[in-house]
Amino acid sequence: MIKVVRGMRDLFGAEIATWHRLEDIFRSLPARFGYQEFRTPIVESADLFRRGVGEETDIVGKEMYTFEDRGGDSLTLRPEMTAPIVRAAIEHTLLRHQPTTRLWYYGPLFRYERPQKGRYRQFHQFGAELLGSPHPEADAEIIMLAAETIREVGLQNITLQINTLGISEERSAYRAALVSYLEDHVHDLSEDSKRRLQHNPLRVLDSKDEGDRRIVVNAPVLFNYLEAASKQHFETVLAILSSAGISFTIEHRLVRGLDYYSHTVFEFVSNDLGAQNTVCGGGRYDPLFALLGGGDVPAVGFSFGVERLVLLMEELASKGSQGSEDLYICAINEEARLPAQLLALRLRRAGFVVHVDVQRRSMKAQMKEADKIGVRATLVLGEEELRDQTVTIKDMVGGQQTSVPLSQLESHLHQALKA
Ligand code: ATP
Ligand code: MG
Repeated sequence: MIKVVRGMRDLFGAEIATWHRLEDIFRSLPARFGYQEFRTPIVESADLFRRGVGEETDIVGKEMYTFEDRGGDSLTLRPEMTAPIVRAAIEHTLLRHQPTTRLWYYGPLFRYERPQKGRYRQFHQFGAELLGSPHPEADAEIIMLAAETIREVGLQNITLQINTLGISEERSAYRAALVSYLEDHVHDLSEDSKRRLQHNPLRVLDSKDEGDRRIVVNAPVLFNYLEAASKQHFETVLAILSSAGISFTIEHRLVRGLDYYSHTVFEFVSNDLGAQNTVCGGGRYDPLFALLGGGDVPAVGFSFGVERLVLLMEELASKGSQGSEDLYICAINEEARLPAQLLALRLRRAGFVVHVDVQRRSMKAQMKEADKIGVRATLVLGEEELRDQTVTIKDMVGGQQTSVPLSQLESHLHQALKA
């Protein structure tokens, strides 16, 4: 038997309704902040990520799906969305027409990782990018949009962790101090961190390894190496968040995996997800446009892991489920089958979700199916109803039955289902 590819998932059944609820939020919420959707291809040239994400990152170093196409070009299934968005913004000179450009995106990404709960090889991100502003108000707006997303989804028990990475010059001075400290403890570092020490020492700071963490606790702190301007930027971001009632914890060891960040970095972390507990990551990435040949364009953004949102929503849903508004039309006899199918069409046009039998099943079997689906009401059509031009509505929650003239059916249903 041929099976789905390891680390990838079929989405179906009850879970789909959760995805739809999220997708409704993705389409409406960023729009209220003035963001427009941007869609890029799933495949990009491999060089985009090598240059834009960085050879030393986990993503480029060991997680990319890269292949040669029939023409010999090296292509990659996108492992993240910021580099493609920036490529597209440069390619379409978006900033020339709109010096502050606000974009959101949603779609599948691919990383060759070890699959586990909350970590897959095909997964989805919802994210936003604010291009063109170097100011702390932009960082704050992006964090507000992320926080509003969490609020609309209805998640609780999520903490915003925030830090500043300053600018590249400040990090160079700090890097020297950090490396010298870590070299004194090199024998106790994990193998991964020994490697990071050579290529990307800041990443040792957010190592998940227990031994590494014990060493990192006493490492020099980047914040102490920042100049006044960088500190001021960070403090303004924090002040705006506080005014907006968004609580946060400053996490000096938060560096995030990507090379292109500067100034603010942040993560929204769930206390209910186990090991894969970051639902959203983001930050400012002022150097990226220049890396991709787009000149000096400051930018800031975030991305949510949609699978992790779905996991959290399903946990919420299992605590208190909400009722369906679906209808079932039950034909009592053979003569009622066609009228039932036509009535279903009429009600679907009026916006209802309607189920109708196409297996020529008995009335009893139809009622059983309506029960199994968990519909809100069953509409019964039989000899009497056809003669009198009525429908018998069986309320599946309250249990009462009402006879309603066909001509008033829609308005009756709208009222009855609302109650
Ligand atoms: P992690 O530390 O979990 O590997 P990351 O730093 O690699 O995360 P980002 O590149 O910042 O993640 O991606 C943003 C979000 O996308 C993450 O916070 C997470 O919710 C989600 N995400 C990342 N990788 C995966 C994956 N393999 N499967 C499912 N979701 C993922
Ligand atoms: Mg990762």
